[in-house]
Amino acid sequence: MQRQIPYKIYLTENELPKAWLNLRAFMQEKPAPLLHPKTYRPITLKELSEVFCEELARQELDDSTPYITIPEEIRDFYKMYRPAPLIRAYCLEKKLGTPAKIYYKFEGNNTSGSHKLNSAIAQAYYAKEQGLKGVTTETGAGQWGTALSMACSYFGLDCKVFMVKCSYEQKPFRREVMRTYGANVTPSPSETTAIGRKILEEFPGTSGSLGCAISEAVEAASSREGYRYVLGSVLNQVLLHQSVIGLETKTALDKYGVKADLIIGCAGGGSNLGGLIAPFMAEKLQGKADYRFIAVEPASCPTLTRGKYAYDFCDTGRVCPLSKMYTLGSGFIPAASHAGGLRYHGMTSTLSELYDKGLMEARSVKQTEVFEAAEYFARIEGILPAPESAHAIRVAIDEALKCKENGEEKTIVFGLTGTGYFDMMSYEKFHDGKMSDYIPSDNEISKGFAGIPKL
Ligand SMILES: *Cc1c(COP(=O)(O)O)cnc(C)c1O
Repeated sequence: MQRQIPYKIYLTENELPKAWLNLRAFMQEKPAPLLHPKTYRPITLKELSEVFCEELARQELDDSTPYITIPEEIRDFYKMYRPAPLIRAYCLEKKLGTPAKIYYKFEGNNTSGSHKLNSAIAQAYYAKEQGLKGVTTETGAGQWGTALSMACSYFGLDCKVFMVKCSYEQKPFRREVMRTYGANVTPSPSETTAIGRKILEEFPGTSGSLGCAISEAVEAASSREGYRYVLGSVLNQVLLHQSVIGLETKTALDKYGVKADLIIGCAGGGSNLGGLIAPFMAEKLQGKADYRFIAVEPASCPTLTRGKYAYDFCDTGRVCPLSKMYTLGSGFIPAASHAGGLRYHGMTSTLSELYDKGLMEARSVKQTEVFEAAEYFARIEGILPAPESAHAIRVAIDEALKCKENGEEKTIVFGLTGTGYFDMMSYEKFHDGKMSDYIPSDNEISKGFAGIPKL
């Protein structure tokens, strides 16, 4: 029997998951192994541990342990802002006049403003455990850098952030939040690394990309004693930590006997979506239940919908391991679109494999449609969404309207990954009618493909 469902389903501290879910353990066809960038052979734990903390390298390579215990110190930190609420969008349903039932998992309830803190705190914890001095990283829109700065200051680690140049210029407040938490922030590409200087020489005046910033951060870590590189998305370890989103969502739905039909999330590198769908996809893979999953990406960076499934470099500088994934080519520099967190040329290998096998769908949406949805949502549900999150809102609304047309009572769950208070310049462009819908031509896309290594 279904109980009356409240507007917000809160879980207790005790219901906070005790272990992360490793989706790869449930996949019969595993994502292809990471390859060493020089030898093109599957990378070993030892090699990977030169780049990442050892425990994180272990998690990265582990595709057989279904559940990995969350250390007590990380759970204690999670308790400051988790469990995150699952919200029933009654107001949105009413406004749309849809018979669909809409839920969203809100991850914006912490100072960093997004889900990224879930992995940042785990990565900082393992760095601290290993006795490291500090970590380096890249950040696009700034959410990851913000989350990592907070996590590092909590554990007393040094934090060096390479911030994609266009975001560094567009989002000075984001930069200052990071500095408030003690991080050192450099616009990328920069003159501080060899790879940065090379990129600047080749593409003078470039607005940067996540791929460039990753290369710089890796170089900065490998040239310093006691430093490791950490990454906010794409990697298996990040998906693992983000499974806390999906596990809580499932517990909340189960509590009220609700079965989701359709689960939607925005996809940049794929970590929030991979985390949100983890326990549901695990059920689907085991034949226990069926769900539809939709990954939503910007039309300006259409990794799944127009990309190729191939081994490619994760970074422009080609220093990171290669991953088999949907990719637009590591040399693809997306237009300076505002959904900074979704401007990545690749997609996490786990989601790439699931998408390739037809277990997940993908859709690309135009920026102005995304902001229309963002504004509509803000006016009805009150939360001012991050532009990235609004990609998921757009498709959730579209699907709810389809339900209205067809008289279907589907249950839709989507991930609301964060708030957009640092994105008001984009909102301003939208309000002033100055926002454009940049869609790369086939020619531009094939230029990106030309840079994919032929193995
Ligand atoms: C970084 C970010 C994303 C995209 O990253 P994924 O790894 O694909 O989850 C989405 N939403 C917000 C708010 C972000 O900060």
